[in-house]
Amino acid sequence: MNSYVVLDGKAFAEKNKAELSKKTSELKNNLGRSPSLAAILVGDDPASATYVSMKEKACQEIGVQTSTFKKNEACSTEELLSLIDKLNADKTIDGILLQHPVPKHIDEIKCFNRISLNKDVDGVTTEGFGNLSMGLDAFGSCTPLGIMRLLNEYDISCEGKLALVVGRSQILGKPMVSMLLNANATTITAHSKTKNLDELLAIADIVVAAVGIPNFIDCKKLKKGSVLIDAGYHPDKKCGDVDMNGITEIVSAYTPVPGGVGPMTINTLIYNTILSMEKLHNG
Ligand code: NAP
Repeated sequence: MNSYVVLDGKAFAEKNKAELSKKTSELKNNLGRSPSLAAILVGDDPASATYVSMKEKACQEIGVQTSTFKKNEACSTEELLSLIDKLNADKTIDGILLQHPVPKHIDEIKCFNRISLNKDVDGVTTEGFGNLSMGLDAFGSCTPLGIMRLLNEYDISCEGKLALVVGRSQILGKPMVSMLLNANATTITAHSKTKNLDELLAIADIVVAAVGIPNFIDCKKLKKGSVLIDAGYHPDKKCGDVDMNGITEIVSAYTPVPGGVGPMTINTLIYNTILSMEKLHNG
C-alpha cells in the first residue's frame, strides 16, 4: 500500500495562530500598538468582498488591526493612487492589500506598484518580485509563500528536486517558480502554450497546479511518490485544479481541496503584516 501525507494547511494555520497572536501581543506591549493591515476593496465583486471579509476576520482573531477602504466601481486610477499614497505615509499602517481584481478601467499594475515596498505584504509590486527573483529580501506573494511554509512545516525539502509549476501568473505561478528556485529545486514552468505537459507531469518530483481550471490535471499522470500542491480552488464545484480520484495510491504527499493551500494564503498575509511591523521598527 502507498504511504502518503496530507499537507493540512487548515490545521497548520490553526496551530500557527497561537504563535502569531503571541508576536502580536509582544509588539503591542513593546511598541504601544498592534500590527495593522489596510485593505482596499474596489467595486462590487461579491467574491472579492468575501475574500476581504475572511481576511478581516482572520486578522481580528489574531489581534491584528484591520481597516477596509471601500471604493465604488467608478473609482479612478488617480483616486486609488492618492489613497495608496495616504496609506503609505501613515505610520500606524504596516501592510497594504489592494484586493485583486480591480475594475478593468483601473491601471492595476500602476496601483500595485505605488504600494511602498516595505508595506507590500501581499507581494504584488514589481520591485518586490524583482527582489524575490534575485534572492534578495522581499515579502513573498502570499499563496506561493504559504505553500513554501507548508512544505517546510512537513519537512519536505525542495533541494535537488524537479519542481513543475503549471501556471505563470504574476501572483502565483511566477513567484512560485522563484521561491522553488531559491530553495534549490530544479524548476520547469508550464503554461497554456506548453505542448508536452503529460511528459512533464510524469517526471516531476513536485507539482504545483495553478491553472484555474477545475480538475484540469488527472492525478494518475503524476509520478509515483511525487508531492502534489493543488493551489486551485473552485467553490462552486468544491474542487481544485487536479482531479484527485485515486491520489492516495500515487503521491507521497498532497494538499487537499479545500483545506490545503487556501488557509495558508490568509495566514501568510497576517504573517507578513506582523513581519512588516517588526521590520519597520527594527530598521
Ligand atoms: P490565472 O492568472 O488565470 O493564471 C492561470 C495560468 O494557467 C496561466 O499562466 C495560464 O497560462 C495557465 N494555463 C491556462 N490553461 C492552461 C493549459 N491548458 N495548460 C497549462 N497551463 C494553462 O490564475 P491564478 O490567479 O494564477 O490562479 C490559479 C488558480 O489558483 C485558480 O484556481 C485560483 O482560484 C487559485 N488561487 C488560489 C489562491 C488561494 O489562496 N488558494 C490564491 C490565488 C489563486 P498562460 O499564461 O499561457 O495564459
